[in-house]
Amino acid sequence: MLGQVRENAVHSLQPPPELDLLLFGGGHAHVAVLRALAMAPWPGVRVTLVTREVLAPYSGMLPAHVAGTLSWEAMHIDLGPLARAGGVRLIEAEVTGIDAAQRQLHFADRPPLSYDVLSVDSGITPALDEVPGARGQVLPTKPIATFLPRLTEALEAQHEALAAGQPIRVVGAGAAGVELALALRARLGPAVSLELLVAGERILPALPARVGRKARAALAAAGVAVRFEARVTAVEDGPTLRLASGEALPAALVLWATHAAPPAWLASSGLALDKAGFLAVGETLQSLSHSEVFAAGDVAALTHAPRPKSGVYAVRAGPVLTDNLKAFIAGHPLRPFKPQRRALYLLNLGDGRSLAAHPWLPAWVGRPLWRLKLAIDERFMARFRLPPMAEGSAAPSLLARTGAERGVALMRCEGCGSKLGPDTLRAGLAGLPGGARPVEDATPVAGARGLWQSIDGFPLPVDDLYLGGRLAAQHALSDLYALGLEPRQAWALATVPVASDRLMARDLGQLMAGAEATLSAAGCELAGGHSLEGPRAELALTVLGAEAPGSAPLLKGGGQAGDVLILTKALGVGVALAASAKGTAPSSLRQGALALMLEPSAPALPVLRAHGVRALTDVTGFGLLGHALEIAEASGLGLTLDPAAPVALDGVLPLLAAGEGAQLSEANAAPLAVAEGKGANLAEPRVRLLCDPQTCGGLLAAVPAATAEACLQALQDAGFASARAVGRLRVEAGLFLSEAHPHD
Ligand SMILES: Cc1cc2nc3c(=O)[nH]c(=O)nc-3n(C[C@H](O)[C@H](O)[C@H](O)COP(=O)(O)OP(=O)(O)OC[C@H]3O[C@@H](n4cnc5c(N)ncnc54)[C@H](O)[C@@H]3O)c2cc1C
Repeated sequence: MLGQVRENAVHSLQPPPELDLLLFGGGHAHVAVLRALAMAPWPGVRVTLVTREVLAPYSGMLPAHVAGTLSWEAMHIDLGPLARAGGVRLIEAEVTGIDAAQRQLHFADRPPLSYDVLSVDSGITPALDEVPGARGQVLPTKPIATFLPRLTEALEAQHEALAAGQPIRVVGAGAAGVELALALRARLGPAVSLELLVAGERILPALPARVGRKARAALAAAGVAVRFEARVTAVEDGPTLRLASGEALPAALVLWATHAAPPAWLASSGLALDKAGFLAVGETLQSLSHSEVFAAGDVAALTHAPRPKSGVYAVRAGPVLTDNLKAFIAGHPLRPFKPQRRALYLLNLGDGRSLAAHPWLPAWVGRPLWRLKLAIDERFMARFRLPPMAEGSAAPSLLARTGAERGVALMRCEGCGSKLGPDTLRAGLAGLPGGARPVEDATPVAGARGLWQSIDGFPLPVDDLYLGGRLAAQHALSDLYALGLEPRQAWALATVPVASDRLMARDLGQLMAGAEATLSAAGCELAGGHSLEGPRAELALTVLGAEAPGSAPLLKGGGQAGDVLILTKALGVGVALAASAKGTAPSSLRQGALALMLEPSAPALPVLRAHGVRALTDVTGFGLLGHALEIAEASGLGLTLDPAAPVALDGVLPLLAAGEGAQLSEANAAPLAVAEGKGANLAEPRVRLLCDPQTCGGLLAAVPAATAEACLQALQDAGFASARAVGRLRVEAGLFLSEAHPHD
């Protein structure tokens, strides 16, 4: 159903947005807001999700995952496709503060983001600082996103200690502690020693005593020791737990599942807080001090109806939060959130059974209850899984949906995948004086010795304009590095999506701050520019570079027969971005592509020069194949490429095998029609990879065969782990696909 309504939403005409709604945190309540937005957009509002993690764990399924019964994928909601389906911008970043007076979110490493309406569903942190020594020595169960990988690492690191009988101690006997202790038993088997530390005299103190007794029986049956009146007062090296009684308990690993603390940044936010420091909201889920701020989930203190910190209340708050945000923006009356007084918990006992906990019901235990719990949780998760976008359907990004282009945008690739194909480019330029001659990545500035300039740009491949600015600047600078030049100055042509003037000013600020951050790190001054409003965010930069003192520019035509072609980065950005936009790839693939794009190229230059590089370019829109051919043609030589050699970004080969690809890859593949060799089969994913357009791709260097191996080693030592010899220049004309032999 979501897939269908999403298409309706994407095609509907909307007025340009006038207001920024920021969703801070991808918690259990915000997924309901995202789902509602995917079903129907809210007129006049631009929605942005700011979250540290793009994969949102569903806590109800966590113990089953720890026990090994449920996969990682089963217990996570991928917020990327969900956000895109609703035209919600996604910014993956860690918030370090809220300034309620200025209506801004703050970050450690990027400029603040302004909001008109803010909704906070950011969860809580463990109360580590209340116990001296705990921070750094124990493994907190929250945030779940970091708990799971750290648990796996810790179990591996402590393998020998555990085998030697040192125990795992779980501190905290609420639902999380009990379920985790039982889940660890299911995962690790009977040989590992496990102990649950209870601060008082009751297990599950917030639940009826009969439930605690049943839980105790389950722990005993599973061989989990329980230590009562064991309040931890300090954690000493080892770690060793020091109890209030003075007793010292060494452990191989300590899991910390005690009560929660509010996030530290709340204290300075200027928002009204409850006594414990949580964000105080009233029945409409609005802050008691700032009506434009809403909160739900563990971070909120429901002052009208206090409840324990539990995912069930966050889930229940989702629909009310959704309605109230929408009503507040539209100026309509809000409705109260009435959290249920008594929730039914189905605790996972880790052995295929669940324990029912409800004030009015018996403490039933059984397998049918586990099946019931699983069915409820799976139904919840299914609500947030989206079918992939159909081919030819509208672009799912808000950036393509704002303003005039709403409703007419076909799925077009962003980033360098949106460049015109090589043949189209040649045809279009053929009538100009100078025609379609091959050009270098930059051109000499007329009348100025040693200065070169270039222009590059694209529709942003990300919703996050700050990140987009960084990528566009990196991509433009790459043209200078491709000639071995030193960046000096840049001019920007910035297009921001049509919106109210206030919102466009915010976008322009983010976009240019990102570009400036990358340019200034490269020693390049942002000297000026021009701005436009348009259907989607785009940034093009003219960059000016100077020849390095005593070093001639590295042209494409300097290659010699026998030279080895070395590529400094992995390939696959184009297909990863295209598949992410269509919803056929998980967010992890998009994250991998972003990390690859952000890898700097400049540090490769001194290494390449030291090994006698003779020709150089960067791999961008025309893919490795197109840019390698440019070197070969400019050098008057033939080319052998080895499809097996380049490193493929994790996850892209199966996509290429399934026929996915950026729109430009087909045009990029044209030279393969005349390629020779057994490898020239376009059905092969590795051959398709050669045609994949890259945004912020690596440098491609022709290096003498005699120094190629040492050059590769030096590149890898300098951090270019994916640097590979991918081909060779040869005397015979034409393109040949086969294995490269650096020493031939
Ligand atoms: C082991 C265990 C088992 C549990 N089992 C259950 C159960 O069975 N049933 C139940 O009801 N509850 C359970 N809970 C409790 C449950 O995990 C929480 O109550 C629930 O996750 C709270 O949801 P939330 O919406 O408040 O935030 P969360 O689900 O914690 O989500 C917080 C979101 O905010 C983001 N975020 C946080 N800080 C920042 C920041 N500074 N900048 C940017 N983004 C940020 C995170 O990336 C995340 O997307 C369990 C907890 C644990 C530890």
